[in-house]
Amino acid sequence: MNASDTLKNSKRVVIKIGSALLTNETREELNQGWIDNLAKDIHALNKSSKEVIIVSSGAVALGRKALGISADIAPEDIRLEQKQAASAVGQPHIFTGYYHAFEKLGITVAQVLLTTSETENRAMHLNARETLYTLLARGIVPVINENDTISTGELRFGDNDRLAVRVAQMIEADTVLLLSSTEGLHTEDPSKNPDAEHIPLVEDITDEHIKMAGDAIPGLSTGGMKSKIEAAQAATRAGISLVIAKELDGKCTLFKAQDNAPNARKRWIATHMKPRGSVIIDDGALKALQDGKSLLPIGVKALEGIFERGDAVSIQTGNGKGIGIGLSAYSAEDAQKIIGKQSADIHGILGYLGRDELIHRNDMVLS
Ligand code: GLU
Repeated sequence: MNASDTLKNSKRVVIKIGSALLTNETREELNQGWIDNLAKDIHALNKSSKEVIIVSSGAVALGRKALGISADIAPEDIRLEQKQAASAVGQPHIFTGYYHAFEKLGITVAQVLLTTSETENRAMHLNARETLYTLLARGIVPVINENDTISTGELRFGDNDRLAVRVAQMIEADTVLLLSSTEGLHTEDPSKNPDAEHIPLVEDITDEHIKMAGDAIPGLSTGGMKSKIEAAQAATRAGISLVIAKELDGKCTLFKAQDNAPNARKRWIATHMKPRGSVIIDDGALKALQDGKSLLPIGVKALEGIFERGDAVSIQTGNGKGIGIGLSAYSAEDAQKIIGKQSADIHGILGYLGRDELIHRNDMVLS
């Protein structure tokens, strides 16, 4: 089974591309030929009605030269501000590479720079997700990287493995494909032991697999197998399969999504979100929610707490019983003005065109 076979049943795939693949041997120039081929592969996936989101590294690698950072300095030895400055130089460079490759195929690409807080923080999360959905609905391929210049943490290679999984959770992708210089998990580090065996399928990640992955290998462009296994753990627990490969038609390791994992996004809401307030709903709304519908303002009798758009609120019935949690599409202040009202009146009341739902069913977990 090659990497593209593992995508056969996926609808939405996040493909993460490591720095080593994007650069040529000197590691300082963009490998446009490689990107052109990737674009063709993605075009084929799009044609078989799969949605593809790219998470691409390479910004620091491509910006090093302009910053005068010599190729033999390991990333851990470069000062943070130097790396951040390098990424500012390199990012437009990589994006241009994608832009040209996809333009030839008639595909539009969009640059989306995220910080981890966007994938974790409420309002930013909601907006980032809606933006990505809007792009996908138009057949546009988002090209995501971390917004390295403003990120406050240490900038490490391997971070994008995690970012790819977070993005997958955020937009309910079913598979993450990590493309890098390795064909997947081996019983030992294959660069040290040529007899190391390749492992094509991992149904359950055990301590043994984690041991096989070893520690992060310091080097120009690899987060090592360790960060990939950690990403695989996070993904599979959230019901997302993760594939490690070097190319789409090559060998790979497939880490299978856990069957009993709840839908990734809902799990994220249930585990990451603390309610900042509550909405008290009427019987009609209760029935609608139990039938799998969204919560409309008209079904809400009262609100409690101070919350912003994108914050989690607990959903309660008239007798104070909590029935679930969801992300509010409106701040408490605006929600107060529209509860009990028809969705068609929202524009007139608030003076802007917001969502019809107070809590969309995709943003809601009932207990
Ligand atoms: N955001 C970094 C870059 O584009 C890379 C992070 C990673 O490789 O995981 O250079």
